[in-house]
Amino acid sequence: MSPHSSSRQGLPTAPDPLPIDVVDNHVHLDIGRDGAEPLDVAEAVARARAVGVSRLVQVGCDLDAIDFTIDAVERFPEVLGAIALHPNEVPRLAAAGTLPAAYDAVERAAGHERVRAVGETGLDYFRTGPDGVAVQQDAFRWHIDLAKRLGKALQIHDRDAHEDVLRVLDEEGAPDRTVLHCFSGDLSTARESVERGYYLSFAGTVTFKNARTLRDALTVTPLSQLLVETDAPYLTPSPHRGATNASYLVPHTIRAMASVLNVDVPTLCRAVSENSERVYGPWS
Ligand SMILES: [Zn+2]
Repeated sequence: MSPHSSSRQGLPTAPDPLPIDVVDNHVHLDIGRDGAEPLDVAEAVARARAVGVSRLVQVGCDLDAIDFTIDAVERFPEVLGAIALHPNEVPRLAAAGTLPAAYDAVERAAGHERVRAVGETGLDYFRTGPDGVAVQQDAFRWHIDLAKRLGKALQIHDRDAHEDVLRVLDEEGAPDRTVLHCFSGDLSTARESVERGYYLSFAGTVTFKNARTLRDALTVTPLSQLLVETDAPYLTPSPHRGATNASYLVPHTIRAMASVLNVDVPTLCRAVSENSERVYGPWS
């Protein structure tokens, strides 16, 4: 099926292709939206390729998703992997007494040559209440240590926990390549992160009308520390906000970022592409 076709029900039409290929550095190909089946991986990859999103980082952050990720990175040269136990998954595993076994599984899978990052790990004070804070912080520290031991990049999930995320990273010592996925901080968090050499990955949220703070944060991020992502199937960029997200919609986010930054689209594409290869290594 033509990637430009919108015949598949509910999927937004493909945007115009980007002039230079980029990377969607955070996507969940295993997750369908609202209980629907996710796009077939081959179709998701083909649709993305057709608009210049030629490489993806598939993120598996529970045990089933980790198996899915290993399978995807072995079958598709366009796909690299990131794996971890999500901060909202950790308290559940701890309560069930299965956290140590889950750590073993993560550690085994993270050694895979095409798994290039540990993530998403971090802190989520929005969905996990105060009871879960201690176990989340422990798990965050464990994942930071794992990334350093294996020489992998680190992808961080931070929801309503900016200060603690930066503090724990300072205490542990961040890995050389640390990515703040779906950056959601304000200007001062952006400045502190840039100073520490972290990469800020912007998602479709940066295109939302009410995301002024996020666009301010973008303007203080140097081109050399910028990444782009979908976090698909969530966070669909404008003008398709509310629809199911997928990697082929990245061009909307790139074009919005370029206009905020006042750079031309090819310049931004080249920067994002080079940064991605610096963080995750070569795809082939
Ligand atoms: Zn995610």
